[in-house]
Amino acid sequence: MSNPTDTGSHLRLSRSHELYQEAVTLMPGGVNSPVRAFRGVGGEPVFIDHASGPYIYDVDGNRYLDYVQSWGPMILGHAHPEVVAAVVETSTRGFSFGAPTQAESELAKLVMACFPSVEMLRFVNSGTEATMSALRVARAFTGRNKIIKFSGCYHGHADMLLVQAGSGVATMGLPDSPGVPAETTKNTLTAAYNDAAAVEELFRTYPEEIAAIIVEPVAANMGLVLPQEGFLEQLRSLTQQYGALLIFDEVMTGFRVALGGMQERTGIVPDLTCFGKIIGGGLPVGAYGGKREIMQQVAPVGPMYQAGTLSGNPLAMAAGIATLREIRKPGQYEKLEHKSKLLADGISEAVRATGTAAQVVRIGAMFCLYFSAEPVTDYASAKRSDTARFARFFWHMLEGGIYLPPSQFEACFISLALDDAMLEETVKQVELALRTSA
Ligand SMILES: *Cc1c(COP(=O)(O)O)cnc(C)c1O
Repeated sequence: MSNPTDTGSHLRLSRSHELYQEAVTLMPGGVNSPVRAFRGVGGEPVFIDHASGPYIYDVDGNRYLDYVQSWGPMILGHAHPEVVAAVVETSTRGFSFGAPTQAESELAKLVMACFPSVEMLRFVNSGTEATMSALRVARAFTGRNKIIKFSGCYHGHADMLLVQAGSGVATMGLPDSPGVPAETTKNTLTAAYNDAAAVEELFRTYPEEIAAIIVEPVAANMGLVLPQEGFLEQLRSLTQQYGALLIFDEVMTGFRVALGGMQERTGIVPDLTCFGKIIGGGLPVGAYGGKREIMQQVAPVGPMYQAGTLSGNPLAMAAGIATLREIRKPGQYEKLEHKSKLLADGISEAVRATGTAAQVVRIGAMFCLYFSAEPVTDYASAKRSDTARFARFFWHMLEGGIYLPPSQFEACFISLALDDAMLEETVKQVELALRTSA
């Protein structure tokens, strides 16, 4: 038994426990990315053996419906036959050449077909690299140093972006993590999400120093916070007014809230867009791209240096191409919308029936259940959620065969592999878990 007794779980997780005992001696927290360690819910992580379609299987033989989806990429479900076939076939012809391949152009064309704002792009290996590089090119293009980010938005772990600052007020950036020199973040300005007035104030204070705003057009790394009416539009007009660039970090929302991401839903045309997650279909891929004249700053055409030994490697490109070809087929987003609505409506009804103080937030194929009595509009209000209650809920759901992200501040994802019966089963488990975790 690996989870603490106060979680009330009766799952058999003895093999996970053994593997975890070894892993913690080898890797910090036993993991290679912090949130996997289950610190947000207490207890120990579940070790995964394999996954297929909507299901993920742990090393003790427990099966769960998966709403984590490797934190976003697996929108088709796990081990989708087309993606598996593409990767297997590609692997027999060599793993990586460090030289151009046609597959890179193919994936680039697929991305551009869905995102007309992207006239030229560069592939990298992660979302972190994408945002870091997009900011470098924005600074190179504008000749300015300051950037604006929003509290509670996550853009990967580059030094200059590890800043959240306090709630409500726009603040000079102070690093969140030891090891990040204050000099590295002194050009990172922050504002509260949905607070366009604070952004305007920053532009008035530094009218000629701000290179770019980087924003998650739906904030999906503090739970799920939707942009309020006019917020993104105001960011667009302020950046235009002050000669700064607007960067949409669509690592999470790209191909998730719509085929063309949040820019398709809003009609807003950003200068640069960052990609990750779904474009790699579960293999490590990121990309940044946008207006041609900006991207022509990037070496070897321009002076802004950015490179990668494994960038655009054939296996990752093959997984990305197969995933995007599948998700582009007519009717896929209608199916996702149907599933997502069925689930969110069911959960809302369970929340109402159980009298739980909670908020259901949903957009496209993602959702979040905040244990909060009040609507969540920014990081400060997200943080008012009852995380202890979430932790109890999480363990009840796990026991009920539903694998949720082990944190109140992560979004849940819906895949095409989930059928209506599975979604109804999930709603049933939510209602049960709400009653038993109260
Ligand atoms: C996941 C994520 C990143 C970081 O991507 P990695 O591949 O984990 O480096 C950046 N931005 C957003 C919005 C994300 O959700």
